[in-house]
Amino acid sequence: MKRLLLAVAVLPLLLTGCGGSAAPQTKSADIFAMDTYMNLKATGTDAEAAVSEASDRISALETLLSVTQETSEVYALNHANGAPTPLSAETQALLQTAAEVRAESGGALCISVYPVLRAWGFTTGSYRIPPQAERDALLAYADDAQIQPENGSLTLPDQMQIDFGALAKGYTGDAVMEIFRAHGITSAMINLGGNVQTLGTKPDGSAWRVGITDPMHPEQSLGTVEVTDRAVITSGNYERYFIGEDGRRYCHIIDPATGAPAENGLISVTVIGTEGVRCDALSTALFVEGTAKAAAHWRQAGDFEMICVTEDGRVLVSEGAAADFTPRSGLQTEVLRREG
Ligand code: AMP
Ligand code: MG
Repeated sequence: MKRLLLAVAVLPLLLTGCGGSAAPQTKSADIFAMDTYMNLKATGTDAEAAVSEASDRISALETLLSVTQETSEVYALNHANGAPTPLSAETQALLQTAAEVRAESGGALCISVYPVLRAWGFTTGSYRIPPQAERDALLAYADDAQIQPENGSLTLPDQMQIDFGALAKGYTGDAVMEIFRAHGITSAMINLGGNVQTLGTKPDGSAWRVGITDPMHPEQSLGTVEVTDRAVITSGNYERYFIGEDGRRYCHIIDPATGAPAENGLISVTVIGTEGVRCDALSTALFVEGTAKAAAHWRQAGDFEMICVTEDGRVLVSEGAAADFTPRSGLQTEVLRREG
């Protein structure tokens, strides 16, 4: 009996002893980083420290990975003039995922397409339609197969420049989740400019409901997907684009086969999976691959689900996502089956 009383007395001390108050709290932060609006929300006894450390990590990753900041590692790589640049663990991991997804997408993901992207004005804001000869000249340097890190450093071939825009936010989301887990957070949702990543369930134990933007009408939702411990990452033609003098829309995802914004039948691809960096790289790759190749890629890979919208308005939902996806009322969807 005496021992039991002692145990009861010690318990509150343990609960309040480290990391502040014992009651779980929900903390949230709005941040502008990596050229986009971000929101972090976490619930736990140490949520405040977790969110604050995560915000710092996002800033640090932006400083490391920005293609335009002259102090970044990516900038150093792109301006090394043939000298080897030592790679951080972060860039090594990003290069690894980029290489994997490049291989499985038949080159649709191409981080060295950056000079072409810039010629279209996507990182400078000076939008224009570069002549085909200019695109072809720049495409000559877009070849990820030549990116070969050695002993922790990388020398890019002359004229080649890279950009992790296709996967940096997913990587950042994974880094935030790692910090959250280290702080004992069991319930969190983050939105990094349309890239949503979730940890555990909502505080009430139910699944997170993530809205998917309708690319035809970005102010409305296509529907919601219910997830726990998943990344839900979208590449869409509505996210960043300009209207050319010819009245056409040109989006920020470049098809390395043409040097022009990808137009292979898809206007939005949402990838659902466990690892943010992979889902982010995949969303960009599948967008470039287009309707038929994206479906084949999904069947082949087996570790992610997807919701695609075609330019003619079809909504294709992979069979593993169908049960978790609730389309908005009246919206027709087609289920992609693994067999046939
Ligand atoms: P996301 O919004 O994740 O699809 O990423 C789009 C970003 O990836 C663009 O803003 C570019 O920085 C970069 N990007 C565009 N096209 C490609 C491509 N084919 N392969 C790799 N990165 C690309
Ligand atoms: Mg992406």
